[in-house]
Amino acid sequence: MSAAASTPELPAPAPTGQALTGPALTSLALARAEVDRCAHLRNDLDWLDAAWSEPATRVLVVEGGQALCDFGAEHARLIFVEPASAPDGVRFLLGVDEDQVAYFGLSGPLPEPADAGVRAAYLREAGPLLSDRDAGLLAHAVALSNWHETFTHCPRCGAPTDPFASGHARRCPVDASEHFPRVDPAMIVLVTDDADRALLARNAMWPEHRVSILAGFVEAGESAEQAVAREVAEETSIDVTAVTYQGSQPWPMPQSLMLGFRAAAPGAQEIKVDANEIAEASWYSREELTAAIASGSLRLPPPVSIAHRIIESWYGTELPGSW
Ligand SMILES: [Zn+2]
Repeated sequence: MSAAASTPELPAPAPTGQALTGPALTSLALARAEVDRCAHLRNDLDWLDAAWSEPATRVLVVEGGQALCDFGAEHARLIFVEPASAPDGVRFLLGVDEDQVAYFGLSGPLPEPADAGVRAAYLREAGPLLSDRDAGLLAHAVALSNWHETFTHCPRCGAPTDPFASGHARRCPVDASEHFPRVDPAMIVLVTDDADRALLARNAMWPEHRVSILAGFVEAGESAEQAVAREVAEETSIDVTAVTYQGSQPWPMPQSLMLGFRAAAPGAQEIKVDANEIAEASWYSREELTAAIASGSLRLPPPVSIAHRIIESWYGTELPGSW
Protein backbone atom coordinates (compact mmCIF):
# COMPACT_ATOMS: atom_id res chain seq x y z
CA MET A 1 0.00 0.00 0.00
CA SER A 2 1.45 3.33 -0.95
CA ALA A 3 1.80 6.17 1.47
CA ALA A 4 -0.67 8.19 -0.58
CA ALA A 5 -3.33 5.49 -0.40
CA SER A 6 -3.11 5.20 3.39
CA THR A 7 -3.32 8.95 3.94
CA PRO A 8 -6.76 9.83 5.25
CA GLU A 9 -8.75 12.14 3.01
CA LEU A 10 -7.97 15.71 3.95
CA PRO A 11 -10.80 18.12 4.56
CA ALA A 12 -11.25 20.77 1.87
CA PRO A 13 -9.26 23.89 2.65
CA ALA A 14 -11.23 26.63 4.32
CA PRO A 15 -12.08 29.39 1.84
CA THR A 16 -9.86 32.42 2.05
CA GLY A 17 -11.09 35.79 0.92
CA GLN A 18 -13.65 35.98 -1.89
CA ALA A 19 -14.80 32.51 -2.91
CA LEU A 20 -15.44 31.96 -6.60
CA THR A 21 -18.89 30.43 -6.78
CA GLY A 22 -21.38 29.98 -9.59
CA PRO A 23 -24.97 31.17 -9.58
CA ALA A 24 -27.27 29.67 -6.96
CA LEU A 25 -29.68 28.33 -9.58
CA THR A 26 -28.40 25.79 -12.09
CA SER A 27 -30.04 23.59 -14.74
CA LEU A 28 -32.78 26.11 -15.40
CA ALA A 29 -35.10 24.59 -18.01
CA LEU A 30 -34.24 27.06 -20.78
CA ALA A 31 -30.62 27.70 -19.79
CA ARG A 32 -29.40 24.27 -20.86
CA ALA A 33 -27.22 23.72 -23.93
CA GLU A 34 -24.83 21.15 -25.34
CA VAL A 35 -24.05 22.30 -28.86
CA ASP A 36 -21.05 24.59 -29.41
CA ARG A 37 -22.34 27.79 -31.05
CA CYS A 38 -19.17 28.01 -33.19
CA ALA A 39 -19.29 31.78 -33.66
CA HIS A 40 -15.97 31.58 -35.53
CA LEU A 41 -17.70 29.73 -38.41
CA ARG A 42 -20.51 32.23 -38.98
CA ASN A 43 -18.61 34.16 -41.64
CA ASP A 44 -16.82 31.16 -43.19
CA LEU A 45 -18.89 30.91 -46.38
CA ASP A 46 -17.02 27.84 -47.69
CA TRP A 47 -17.64 25.96 -44.45
CA LEU A 48 -21.29 27.07 -44.37
CA ASP A 49 -21.85 25.92 -47.98
CA ALA A 50 -20.21 22.56 -47.26
CA ALA A 51 -22.27 22.11 -44.07
CA TRP A 52 -25.50 22.93 -45.94
CA SER A 53 -24.72 20.36 -48.66
CA GLU A 54 -24.06 17.64 -46.07
CA PRO A 55 -27.10 15.34 -45.64
CA ALA A 56 -26.21 14.71 -41.97
CA THR A 57 -26.74 18.41 -41.20
CA ARG A 58 -29.90 18.99 -39.12
CA VAL A 59 -32.24 21.93 -39.77
CA LEU A 60 -34.74 23.10 -37.16
CA VAL A 61 -37.60 25.05 -38.72
CA VAL A 62 -39.27 27.67 -36.50
CA GLU A 63 -42.44 29.57 -37.38
CA GLY A 64 -44.16 32.01 -35.05
CA GLY A 65 -42.10 30.76 -32.09
CA GLN A 66 -43.08 27.12 -32.67
CA ALA A 67 -41.11 24.09 -33.84
CA LEU A 68 -42.12 20.49 -34.49
CA CYS A 69 -41.60 18.17 -31.52
CA ASP A 70 -42.15 14.46 -31.13
CA PHE A 71 -44.08 13.93 -27.90
CA GLY A 72 -44.81 10.28 -28.70
CA ALA A 73 -41.44 8.88 -27.64
CA GLU A 74 -40.40 8.29 -24.04
CA HIS A 75 -38.51 11.58 -24.07
CA ALA A 76 -39.74 14.54 -26.13
CA ARG A 77 -37.40 15.46 -28.98
CA LEU A 78 -37.11 18.05 -31.72
CA ILE A 79 -37.92 17.13 -35.32
CA PHE A 80 -35.19 18.23 -37.73
CA VAL A 81 -35.17 18.11 -41.53
CA GLU A 82 -32.28 17.64 -43.95
CA PRO A 83 -31.06 20.79 -45.73
CA ALA A 84 -32.34 19.38 -49.07
CA SER A 85 -35.92 19.23 -47.76
CA ALA A 86 -35.82 22.50 -45.75
CA PRO A 87 -38.29 25.22 -46.81
CA ASP A 88 -37.21 28.68 -47.96
CA GLY A 89 -36.55 31.17 -45.17
CA VAL A 90 -33.90 33.00 -43.18
CA ARG A 91 -31.25 30.48 -42.18
CA PHE A 92 -28.96 30.69 -39.14
CA LEU A 93 -26.14 28.51 -37.83
CA LEU A 94 -26.96 27.15 -34.36
CA GLY A 95 -23.69 25.26 -33.93
CA VAL A 96 -21.84 21.99 -34.21
CA ASP A 97 -22.09 19.07 -31.77
CA GLU A 98 -19.30 16.79 -30.54
CA ASP A 99 -19.97 14.35 -33.40
CA GLN A 100 -19.34 17.23 -35.86
CA VAL A 101 -23.01 17.37 -36.87
CA ALA A 102 -23.96 20.94 -37.86
CA TYR A 103 -27.30 22.42 -36.75
CA PHE A 104 -29.08 25.24 -38.51
CA GLY A 105 -32.25 27.06 -37.57
CA LEU A 106 -34.56 28.31 -40.27
CA SER A 107 -37.34 30.86 -39.93
CA GLY A 108 -39.98 29.58 -42.33
CA PRO A 109 -43.12 27.47 -42.75
CA LEU A 110 -43.25 24.38 -40.53
CA PRO A 111 -43.12 21.02 -42.33
CA GLU A 112 -46.18 18.75 -42.13
CA PRO A 113 -45.95 16.44 -39.07
CA ALA A 114 -45.17 12.93 -40.32
CA ASP A 115 -45.99 10.89 -37.20
CA ALA A 116 -48.89 10.76 -34.77
CA GLY A 117 -46.89 12.05 -31.79
CA VAL A 118 -45.44 15.02 -33.70
CA ARG A 119 -46.93 18.52 -33.45
CA ALA A 120 -45.91 22.16 -33.30
CA ALA A 121 -45.01 23.40 -29.81
CA TYR A 122 -43.82 26.58 -28.14
CA LEU A 123 -40.59 26.74 -26.16
CA ARG A 124 -42.60 27.26 -22.96
CA GLU A 125 -44.21 23.81 -23.37
CA ALA A 126 -41.45 21.80 -25.04
CA GLY A 127 -38.39 23.37 -23.38
CA PRO A 128 -38.62 21.56 -20.02
CA LEU A 129 -39.36 18.18 -21.68
CA LEU A 130 -36.42 18.20 -24.10
CA SER A 131 -32.84 17.00 -23.60
CA ASP A 132 -30.14 19.57 -22.80
CA ARG A 133 -29.09 19.52 -26.47
CA ASP A 134 -32.58 20.07 -27.85
CA ALA A 135 -33.62 22.62 -25.20
CA GLY A 136 -30.57 24.75 -26.01
CA LEU A 137 -31.10 24.48 -29.77
CA LEU A 138 -34.77 25.41 -29.48
CA ALA A 139 -34.12 28.44 -27.23
CA HIS A 140 -31.41 29.66 -29.62
CA ALA A 141 -33.52 29.08 -32.74
CA VAL A 142 -36.70 30.65 -31.32
CA ALA A 143 -34.79 33.74 -30.18
CA LEU A 144 -33.22 34.28 -33.60
CA SER A 145 -36.40 33.41 -35.49
CA ASN A 146 -38.43 35.90 -33.42
CA TRP A 147 -35.84 38.56 -34.17
CA HIS A 148 -35.75 37.91 -37.92
CA GLU A 149 -39.56 37.87 -38.07
CA THR A 150 -39.81 41.23 -36.29
CA PHE A 151 -36.72 43.37 -36.92
CA THR A 152 -36.79 43.40 -40.69
CA HIS A 153 -35.97 47.06 -41.40
CA CYS A 154 -33.13 49.45 -40.64
CA PRO A 155 -33.90 51.61 -37.59
CA ARG A 156 -31.84 54.44 -39.12
CA CYS A 157 -33.25 54.77 -42.64
CA GLY A 158 -36.15 52.30 -42.85
CA ALA A 159 -34.70 50.17 -45.67
CA PRO A 160 -35.20 46.38 -45.51
CA THR A 161 -32.07 44.77 -44.02
CA ASP A 162 -30.28 41.56 -45.08
CA PRO A 163 -29.12 38.76 -42.75
CA PHE A 164 -25.39 38.11 -42.49
CA ALA A 165 -23.00 36.31 -40.11
CA SER A 166 -25.07 33.18 -40.73
CA GLY A 167 -28.21 34.87 -39.48
CA HIS A 168 -26.69 36.29 -36.29
CA ALA A 169 -26.77 39.86 -37.58
CA ARG A 170 -28.51 42.01 -40.21
CA ARG A 171 -27.01 44.75 -42.38
CA CYS A 172 -28.62 47.72 -44.09
CA PRO A 173 -27.80 47.81 -47.83
CA VAL A 174 -28.28 51.61 -47.94
CA ASP A 175 -26.12 52.88 -45.04
CA ALA A 176 -24.21 49.65 -44.19
CA SER A 177 -25.25 49.85 -40.52
CA GLU A 178 -25.13 46.51 -38.72
CA HIS A 179 -27.82 45.28 -36.34
CA PHE A 180 -27.69 42.48 -33.80
CA PRO A 181 -30.39 40.38 -32.11
CA ARG A 182 -32.38 42.30 -29.52
CA VAL A 183 -32.27 40.90 -25.98
CA ASP A 184 -34.29 42.77 -23.36
CA PRO A 185 -33.00 42.23 -19.81
CA ALA A 186 -35.70 41.75 -17.21
CA MET A 187 -35.26 41.16 -13.51
CA ILE A 188 -37.31 38.90 -11.25
CA VAL A 189 -36.90 38.87 -7.49
CA LEU A 190 -37.97 36.92 -4.44
CA VAL A 191 -38.22 39.38 -1.53
CA THR A 192 -38.23 38.00 2.00
CA ASP A 193 -38.96 39.81 5.27
CA ASP A 194 -37.26 39.46 8.67
CA ALA A 195 -39.37 36.35 9.40
CA ASP A 196 -38.20 34.79 6.11
CA ARG A 197 -41.67 35.09 4.60
CA ALA A 198 -41.85 35.48 0.80
CA LEU A 199 -43.55 38.36 -0.99
CA LEU A 200 -45.96 37.01 -3.62
CA ALA A 201 -48.16 39.17 -5.79
CA ARG A 202 -50.90 38.87 -8.38
CA ASN A 203 -50.54 40.95 -11.51
CA ALA A 204 -53.68 42.95 -12.26
CA MET A 205 -53.98 41.17 -15.65
CA TRP A 206 -53.80 37.63 -14.20
CA PRO A 207 -56.74 35.45 -13.23
CA GLU A 208 -57.74 34.97 -9.60
CA HIS A 209 -55.40 32.90 -7.39
CA ARG A 210 -52.39 33.15 -9.72
CA VAL A 211 -49.37 34.68 -7.97
CA SER A 212 -45.64 35.03 -8.53
CA ILE A 213 -42.66 37.02 -7.40
CA LEU A 214 -42.11 40.58 -8.64
CA ALA A 215 -40.60 41.21 -12.06
CA GLY A 216 -39.99 43.99 -14.54
CA PHE A 217 -37.79 45.20 -17.36
CA VAL A 218 -34.43 46.79 -16.67
CA GLU A 219 -34.71 50.37 -17.93
CA ALA A 220 -32.20 52.19 -20.13
CA GLY A 221 -29.16 53.34 -18.20
CA GLU A 222 -30.03 51.23 -15.15
CA SER A 223 -28.28 48.28 -13.51
CA ALA A 224 -30.19 45.06 -12.86
CA GLU A 225 -29.80 45.61 -9.09
CA GLN A 226 -31.21 49.14 -9.40
CA ALA A 227 -34.13 47.75 -11.39
CA VAL A 228 -34.84 45.26 -8.59
CA ALA A 229 -35.03 48.01 -5.96
CA ARG A 230 -37.07 50.32 -8.20
CA GLU A 231 -39.63 47.73 -9.33
CA VAL A 232 -40.21 46.39 -5.81
CA ALA A 233 -40.67 49.93 -4.47
CA GLU A 234 -42.96 50.94 -7.36
CA GLU A 235 -45.17 47.88 -7.14
CA THR A 236 -45.37 47.32 -3.36
CA SER A 237 -43.72 50.35 -1.61
CA ILE A 238 -41.22 47.93 -0.04
CA ASP A 239 -37.57 49.01 0.26
CA VAL A 240 -35.09 46.19 -0.28
CA THR A 241 -31.46 45.54 0.65
CA ALA A 242 -29.04 42.64 0.06
CA VAL A 243 -29.98 42.24 -3.61
CA THR A 244 -28.26 38.99 -4.61
CA TYR A 245 -28.00 37.45 -8.07
CA GLN A 246 -29.35 33.89 -8.35
CA GLY A 247 -29.07 32.96 -12.04
CA SER A 248 -30.54 33.70 -15.45
CA GLN A 249 -32.29 32.07 -18.34
CA PRO A 250 -33.30 33.22 -21.81
CA TRP A 251 -37.02 33.85 -22.19
CA PRO A 252 -37.30 34.56 -25.93
CA MET A 253 -41.03 35.17 -25.85
CA PRO A 254 -40.30 37.31 -27.69
CA GLN A 255 -36.85 38.53 -26.59
CA SER A 256 -36.20 38.67 -22.84
CA LEU A 257 -33.34 37.52 -20.66
CA MET A 258 -34.63 36.85 -17.14
CA LEU A 259 -32.15 37.80 -14.39
CA GLY A 260 -33.13 36.17 -11.09
CA PHE A 261 -32.46 37.77 -7.67
CA ARG A 262 -33.17 37.45 -3.97
CA ALA A 263 -33.59 40.55 -1.82
CA ALA A 264 -34.36 41.38 1.81
CA ALA A 265 -37.04 43.71 3.17
CA PRO A 266 -35.76 44.69 6.63
CA GLY A 267 -38.04 45.97 9.39
CA ALA A 268 -41.82 45.80 9.51
CA GLN A 269 -42.67 47.48 6.22
CA GLU A 270 -46.24 47.90 5.08
CA ILE A 271 -47.16 46.65 1.59
CA LYS A 272 -48.94 49.28 -0.51
CA VAL A 273 -49.59 47.96 -3.99
CA ASP A 274 -49.57 49.96 -7.20
CA ALA A 275 -53.14 49.04 -8.16
CA ASN A 276 -52.49 49.66 -11.87
CA GLU A 277 -50.00 46.83 -12.05
CA ILE A 278 -50.54 44.66 -8.96
CA ALA A 279 -53.96 43.45 -7.81
CA GLU A 280 -52.74 42.10 -4.47
CA ALA A 281 -49.51 41.26 -2.64
CA SER A 282 -48.83 39.52 0.68
CA TRP A 283 -46.15 37.85 2.78
CA TYR A 284 -46.32 34.06 2.98
CA SER A 285 -44.52 31.70 5.33
CA ARG A 286 -43.73 28.25 3.97
CA GLU A 287 -46.60 26.80 6.00
CA GLU A 288 -49.03 29.43 4.73
CA LEU A 289 -47.94 28.82 1.13
CA THR A 290 -48.35 25.06 1.51
CA ALA A 291 -51.86 25.51 2.92
CA ALA A 292 -52.87 28.08 0.28
CA ILE A 293 -51.77 25.82 -2.57
CA ALA A 294 -53.49 22.80 -1.03
CA SER A 295 -56.77 24.73 -0.67
CA GLY A 296 -56.53 26.04 -4.25
CA SER A 297 -56.45 29.69 -3.17
CA LEU A 298 -52.95 30.18 -4.69
CA ARG A 299 -51.34 28.91 -7.87
CA LEU A 300 -47.63 29.36 -8.60
CA PRO A 301 -45.79 29.79 -11.93
CA PRO A 302 -44.86 26.65 -13.93
CA PRO A 303 -41.51 24.83 -13.48
CA VAL A 304 -40.21 26.17 -16.83
CA SER A 305 -40.05 29.66 -15.29
CA ILE A 306 -37.16 31.04 -13.27
CA ALA A 307 -39.83 32.38 -10.89
CA HIS A 308 -40.79 28.80 -9.97
CA ARG A 309 -37.18 27.85 -9.38
CA ILE A 310 -36.43 30.88 -7.19
CA ILE A 311 -39.56 30.29 -5.09
CA GLU A 312 -38.58 26.62 -4.83
CA SER A 313 -35.06 27.49 -3.65
CA TRP A 314 -36.62 29.51 -0.82
CA TYR A 315 -39.32 26.90 -0.09
CA GLY A 316 -36.59 24.25 0.35
CA THR A 317 -38.17 21.38 -1.55
CA GLU A 318 -40.24 20.68 -4.64
CA LEU A 319 -43.21 23.02 -4.90
CA PRO A 320 -46.57 21.29 -4.61
CA GLY A 321 -48.47 22.92 -7.50
CA SER A 322 -48.31 25.31 -10.43
CA TRP A 323 -50.35 27.03 -13.15
ZN1 LIG B 1 -30.31 51.95 -43.18
